[in-house]
Amino acid sequence: MMGDPIQAFLEGGDPPSFDDVMIVPTYSEIRSRKEPDTKSFVTNNIELEVPIISSPMDTVTGAKMAFTMGSNGGLGILHRFMPKEEQALAVEDILRSNAEITGPKLAKIVPAIGIGRSEKQRFNYLYERFKDSLSAVAIDIANGDSSYMIEMIKWVDQKTSGNIPIIAGNVATGEGFIRLAEAGASAIRVGIGGGSICKTRIMTGIGIPTLASVIDCYSARESDGDYDDVSIIADGGIRYPADFVKSLAAGADAVIAGRIFAGTIESPGEVISLDGRRVKVYRGMASKEVQDDKRGGLKPGTCAEGVSTHIPLKGKAYYILDEFCGGLRSAMTYTNSYNLSDLRNNSRFIKLTSSALDESHAFGTRK
Ligand code: IMP
Repeated sequence: MMGDPIQAFLEGGDPPSFDDVMIVPTYSEIRSRKEPDTKSFVTNNIELEVPIISSPMDTVTGAKMAFTMGSNGGLGILHRFMPKEEQALAVEDILRSNAEITGPKLAKIVPAIGIGRSEKQRFNYLYERFKDSLSAVAIDIANGDSSYMIEMIKWVDQKTSGNIPIIAGNVATGEGFIRLAEAGASAIRVGIGGGSICKTRIMTGIGIPTLASVIDCYSARESDGDYDDVSIIADGGIRYPADFVKSLAAGADAVIAGRIFAGTIESPGEVISLDGRRVKVYRGMASKEVQDDKRGGLKPGTCAEGVSTHIPLKGKAYYILDEFCGGLRSAMTYTNSYNLSDLRNNSRFIKLTSSALDESHAFGTRK
């Protein structure tokens, strides 16, 4: 059962963010952190050993990241902010890397597309070339709870005779989740305004804390009953393994993250020197910088809803994945959870005060 305080937050109109809650430890019989099974299905043909997905952003997931994530038990969704021919070359790169390894951990091929005529052409182009290699396609737009998203889901579904699972998003509410599930999505990205490079909430006043959106979507899925196999993917604001754990405990089947993988060796982009540090750019896909680069600047009457920043180099993406998986395994032992469904059922959330949050960080290093 999900903890009552979470429901109380919702009923009381106080939607929780990651830092508002903590999970109560329970009596456990799990002796080793190796015992819990962290596997999770994103679509019926994509089962992840570590339910983390690197975001389809141009400073996060190119071919190298998609291969590294996939071959280490996660998933990388190939970004769409490049010409379709270039995206096809990236798919070929992943296929080539897959051909060099043996064993079950081949990286899945999941390219992102947008909506509209040129994005239909992008999909046609990829589908003609890689029909048998595509594991899924991700329809990636800011406001997924929309008529144009539903139209695109139906178009892809018809085009592929329902043979390619669709990951769609983003939505922020249970109603939005059900609408996309009804339209035919197999997995839905949940979270509006929570990304570390996002200005949507500041520029528009629109948004819901990602954790609250996950809870709402999970409740909607549970009460509807028709879409139990449609995955919830928490997206935006994952900073620590704890945020990953709280998302899964609140009902997500996987999380998507950008910032935690930005600045790794596998993330696309040059290493630059800044104030004596080696850094890489990490930028929101709705930032002015992206608009300047890809579309010749912001269109009149529009505003940037993302920012660009620099992330110090952090080594291989594999270590991030491993650290997050370590946090999850440990949380599963604290809650006597042998699998993710146990984690959901055994997690009782409590509300934190600001002093409790302060105490939660390793404060022993403060001077
Ligand atoms: P992060 O992991 O907190 O850095 O958030 C990454 C997520 O932010 C992505 O997966 C997208 O859902 C979202 N996102 C990416 N670019 C933008 C933007 O420019 N504005 C708002 N949200 C964005």
